[in-house]
Amino acid sequence: MTDLASLDQRTLIHPHTVIGDPAEPLVLDRGEGALLWDTDGNQYLDGTCGLWQCPVGHGRAELADVAAEQIRKLEFYSSFGDYSNAPSIRLAERLLSLAPAGLERVFLTNGGSEGNETAIKLARLAFHHAGSPERTVVLARHGGYHGMGGASLAATGIEGLRAGYGPLLPDVEWLGKPHGIEHGPDATDILVAELEQRIEEIGPHRIAAFIGEPVLGVGGMVPPPEGYWPRVQEVLRRNGILLIVDEIVTAFGRTGHWFGSERFGVEPDMIVTAKGLTSGYIPMGAVLIGRRVLELAEGATFLHGFTYNGHPVGAAVALANLDLIEKENLLERATALGARLRARLDPLAELPHVREVRGVGLMLGIEFADRPTAPVQAGCRADGVVVRASGTSIVLSPPLVITEDQIDTLADVLCKHVAVAAS
Ligand code: PLP
Repeated sequence: MTDLASLDQRTLIHPHTVIGDPAEPLVLDRGEGALLWDTDGNQYLDGTCGLWQCPVGHGRAELADVAAEQIRKLEFYSSFGDYSNAPSIRLAERLLSLAPAGLERVFLTNGGSEGNETAIKLARLAFHHAGSPERTVVLARHGGYHGMGGASLAATGIEGLRAGYGPLLPDVEWLGKPHGIEHGPDATDILVAELEQRIEEIGPHRIAAFIGEPVLGVGGMVPPPEGYWPRVQEVLRRNGILLIVDEIVTAFGRTGHWFGSERFGVEPDMIVTAKGLTSGYIPMGAVLIGRRVLELAEGATFLHGFTYNGHPVGAAVALANLDLIEKENLLERATALGARLRARLDPLAELPHVREVRGVGLMLGIEFADRPTAPVQAGCRADGVVVRASGTSIVLSPPLVITEDQIDTLADVLCKHVAVAAS
């Protein structure tokens, strides 16, 4: 182990690790496009963007220059109350111009969990203010991931992640995992019937919002069954329930569209974004807020916010990042390269230990039936390719600037290790 790796073990606690039993860290040093190098000079092909955050690829000098320029000019000043800054204002305008119809305001955050905290609190406040304080329930789905904060973890439907912290935010009610393979071709009918039944049981007058990812990310890159989102939206509207779409992974190109909501034909009441907004160069997120929420909450004081909301450096980098996504046609790239990768991975579904190969654009998953996925992650890494084992699935979400040759290398190495897992 290098000196740095051993110092890491003696000084840091990493997210999602065992306290007192740290794994040997891969200490990364630099990146360029879809490539990464560790401090020993070993090269890796990045099949995941870390945690799906980097559409424009690593090492973009343009973004470093924009950040440096903004830091020299105005590094930060609070955006609470009546303070503002030009990059935040321009970013809000840009996001609203890209967003689905009906979204009219932006609340800037520092990341994804904070965005979901914001959206859930705002949904509850809106109803409270509009004279329906009993509307506090949040409908969430098994298999969904919404973050690690008080409300966002409470709405995360992965049991293991919620255990050990005592009572979380009350009034979260559960719906089944939106996974077609379990339900067969009638999946949408089954899930919509379940939604209607749960609403009736709970009482529509008690429900503030439904929260869901257009495509489950942490849950294994699970796309919705055909026609799911428009029908869910219709049921929610009919019952006066707000729709919060968590686009922390799906926004900014990964599905081949600016927003997954566009891809699946929904017009949410709120969209929560982060990750790809700045390609991860600076932590930042944004909640896009729709007309219905604004009407309900009109006149309410939103006593909510975190010191670094509306960070001018984050906003300046986000604007430059969105420019790169547009100029480099990364939405089209996600569609074309996603199809190329999918064509290489689809035959894996024939293997007896592979349950399903699935995905949308450049977010793909391979679910195993009865085998651990961690050895595939380790084997690929030993061969210089980074993929992610997420529960029973291997998930892929490379930078959208990945080249065709790199896609082929990713597929070659992954197919080899998925096949090895059979033995
Ligand atoms: N929502 C989704 C769909 C995510 O994938 C994530 C992170 O992976 C989050 C929320 C939480 O975002 P953050 O880790 O930036 O707080």
